[in-house]
Amino acid sequence: MKHILVVNGLEAPMLRQFGCECDRCASPERQANTSVSLLGLNGSDEAEYHVLVDVGIGVVDSLLQNPYLYGRRARLDWLLLTHWHPDHTLGINQLCVSYHLTRQRSGRDTAQVPVWCRAGTAAWLQRERGYEWQTFLQPHISEENEPPGRLLPPLDLGIAGLKVTPVTVSHFGADRSPDDAQQVQYSCAAFIVETAVAKTVLLWDIDSENEWLVSPQTEVERTAVAHLAHADRLFIDTAFWRAKKHRATHPSFDNVQRIVANLQPKETLLVHLSGHPDGAGNPGWGWTNAQWTAAAQEVWQQKQLPGSVRVPAIGEQFEL
Ligand SMILES: [Zn+2]
Ligand SMILES: [Zn+2]
Repeated sequence: MKHILVVNGLEAPMLRQFGCECDRCASPERQANTSVSLLGLNGSDEAEYHVLVDVGIGVVDSLLQNPYLYGRRARLDWLLLTHWHPDHTLGINQLCVSYHLTRQRSGRDTAQVPVWCRAGTAAWLQRERGYEWQTFLQPHISEENEPPGRLLPPLDLGIAGLKVTPVTVSHFGADRSPDDAQQVQYSCAAFIVETAVAKTVLLWDIDSENEWLVSPQTEVERTAVAHLAHADRLFIDTAFWRAKKHRATHPSFDNVQRIVANLQPKETLLVHLSGHPDGAGNPGWGWTNAQWTAAAQEVWQQKQLPGSVRVPAIGEQFEL
């Protein structure tokens, strides 16, 4: 079986901003929130499994354009959620209800979609997406509140040749209980995806304070970093171009450079881009993907950072 990853989207929450005239909003390129699909293809290029990681706005449209999932080929074996924020979960209704109805119409079974997430994210989804949660999803919850910088047990997906290991990360905008905003509940995970030949790291959303990724202090953090390091490719949250003086809910490109210098991936792929959070008139504001790639590559060369860097394309395929 050939394992591949397809990029479904790489946008931060807002996508195009209503009323904005920047280059990014004016670009005709299709947009969708950050998400990837993991697919196993048999010798006839038919999907033997489909694991979807996050489902924000525009992601279902990307699935419709995926040649391996078109029409009767559509399948969904697992939904993995990094966290509950709307730009990672707003597509749950379109995804689950439409998939359920399509299968019902074609006389196939309408089994619920297994979903993996951390307990904090499950609590938010029960509240915010109760209808879909109760009707269309089959929860597999990681019942813990581990602090950032820990490997969780590999997921039992039942897929031969594919190992997915969650890692706890800090993303303080989402690390709170739905019942008490003051109560910290760690709700976010990154994923390490391994096959016999390649390692891919999906590292979003993270805040600017995940210092353990740069200099791990404990044995547990060092173990997590060792598993994240030397990946064939690292998809990483890069919400801001300019470095922030204060604690921010997402990393800047400056944070990304420090993380990459420690993790040493072969290829760095910038996702969760927007160009708007930097603010009008600042570098990064309204940049298209091509502008982000050019600016990032210049810094990479100047500072001799490891491997290569670029923004992937929506619909792009990577062999795993
Ligand atoms: Zn988030
Ligand atoms: Zn996000």
